[in-house]
Amino acid sequence: MTETVNQHGPVTEWGEKDNLLGPVVVSAEEIAKRVAELGAAISSDYAGRAPLLVGVLKGAFVFLADLARRIDLPVEMDFMAVSSYGTATKTSGVVRIVKDLDIDLTERDVIVVEDIVDSGLTLSYLRKSLLARSPASLSICTLLKKHGQQRVTFQLEYVGFEIPPHFVIGYGLDVAERYRNLPDLRIYLGSEPE
Ligand code: 5GP
Repeated sequence: MTETVNQHGPVTEWGEKDNLLGPVVVSAEEIAKRVAELGAAISSDYAGRAPLLVGVLKGAFVFLADLARRIDLPVEMDFMAVSSYGTATKTSGVVRIVKDLDIDLTERDVIVVEDIVDSGLTLSYLRKSLLARSPASLSICTLLKKHGQQRVTFQLEYVGFEIPPHFVIGYGLDVAERYRNLPDLRIYLGSEPE
């Protein structure tokens, strides 16, 4: 990889020539270390149980894949996809389930794995909808939480990093489906998607 420079300092030229990649917010090394810590905490908290990891597509797929391999328990995995009414960055809080789970949640220890909590509206809605399915327990594990942005408060049992309220990409997070395969989390320098 080659180094180039834009007005925000050096950025690594990645994929197609792209000057929209901003500074690294969390590096791949920092992510790996924190994911290992989260996996260890979950392994200890859920010892003797077989939790069901529920990944929220698509953003959480990279995080879930790494986290699952750091949990030393017989976990199961399922995925759901939601789309929020409103714009991509400003959620209205009303969420439509686009792809539902295959596995029944009754009496399961559910851990919802999410990429980022911004306003919290999406997860708040999802949490209520999943609690209605009578799980034995439900906790939330989010890689990122944007500092000071939450419009609703609820328990976040596991948080990877609190970050400033920038729009970030990489490690599963996208802009119009691009950048999900960036190994680091970076600030996006383009205009935020509507
Ligand atoms: P919330 O409902 O908490 O406001 O936002 C939920 C969703 O908005 C996240 O799951 C994610 O899809 C999207 N989102 C919020 N902040 C960011 C960001 O900084 N980068 C990207 N790529 N998506 C974001």
